[in-house]
Amino acid sequence: MSAAVAEALLDELRRVSRGEVIAGLPLAPRTSVRVGGPARFFVKPRDAEALVAVLRICAQEEVPWHPLGGGANTVVGDKGVEGVVLRLGPDFASERVEELGDQVMVTLGAGAPGARFLALAKEQRCVGVASWGGGIPGTVGGWTAMNAGTPLGSMSDHLEAGEIATPSGLSWLSAGELHLGYRQCELPRGAILTRARCRIRRGTDAERGQEERAVKADLEKRRMTQPLTQPNSGSVFVNPPNNFAGRLIEEAGLKGTRRGGAQISARHANFIVNAGDATAHDVVELIALARRAVENATGIVLQPEVRLVGTFSPPLPPELEEHHQLPVLLPAPQVPEVAP
Ligand SMILES: Cc1cc2nc3c(=O)[nH]c(=O)nc-3n(C[C@H](O)[C@H](O)[C@H](O)COP(=O)(O)OP(=O)(O)OC[C@H]3O[C@@H](n4cnc5c(N)ncnc54)[C@H](O)[C@@H]3O)c2cc1C
Repeated sequence: MSAAVAEALLDELRRVSRGEVIAGLPLAPRTSVRVGGPARFFVKPRDAEALVAVLRICAQEEVPWHPLGGGANTVVGDKGVEGVVLRLGPDFASERVEELGDQVMVTLGAGAPGARFLALAKEQRCVGVASWGGGIPGTVGGWTAMNAGTPLGSMSDHLEAGEIATPSGLSWLSAGELHLGYRQCELPRGAILTRARCRIRRGTDAERGQEERAVKADLEKRRMTQPLTQPNSGSVFVNPPNNFAGRLIEEAGLKGTRRGGAQISARHANFIVNAGDATAHDVVELIALARRAVENATGIVLQPEVRLVGTFSPPLPPELEEHHQLPVLLPAPQVPEVAP
């Protein structure tokens, strides 16, 4: 893309997004592991209509896009992300609460912190969300796209429907259509979640007290067992059936192993920490090493939970390529011509 074309595109993105548009914005500070290069174009659309308009421009101009939430499960490649990185701003933090007897339906903007879902459930004297959601960073959009959770529950226990934006407009998909599974959600290609409608249940005083104590204990356990004082992107691999990725990596003798500035946490082997000056390449080397070592030792092939996003240099090893999340480009919708 020539400088003049990029400049014209920036102007157009600024006009339709009515929000922040920055060329070359570093993404490392926008991810929890703090590695990776810049976004070619970083766009924070003002509201859902502006988001659709941005997607239309991207489709028309053939510029791919990538939705970034809180970056808590994302490793951005050292060369950054070509195209438009979309981050939902404060206008995507709307809230609506509907009473349904002993249940409550909450509709949350996808840009809201997941913690806001917890707070809202507490305000509404509901139980369930806190039992799994305490201590999980990220946005409501990221929680839904990843079906965030723990063995005690996940977004799929509550999600009724998700609103998505595509170049064709906004629409709602039922939870059934989104097929939430273990750390996954089948969004239509290129779709961006803009709202999540979730059902939560009112709890008795006793239930709420019990949940509060369990949450405190869980947060304390996380503090003791996870490397929360160092930048990381949460669990690197999903747990294989009836096993734990962390245990397998530890048994392969890799706890504390370093590559450049990245390290397999000495505290929890399914976490890779940025020990100061890690690059995405360092992190990827450790992901590949852990995968190979566990496969050699046990025959189990660990599947990454983290999203490997954008351009990696050197390129991702072939065995990780299928987990590579490249920005998406969809054809522009056919807009019917308006009669003169
Ligand atoms: C210390 C720590 C502890 C963690 N503990 C847990 C845990 O217990 N359980 C758990 O499940 N996870 C855990 N995680 C991982 C992380 O918090 C979750 O995966 C969370 O859902 C990521 O949300 P995010 O907004 O940061 O998503 P991001 O990392 O920004 O994005 C993750 C994926 O979601 C997509 N996405 C984000 N927003 C949207 C949107 N609006 N529309 C469409 N797609 C979108 C992205 O494209 C990407 O594919 C932990 C992470 C850390 C750092």
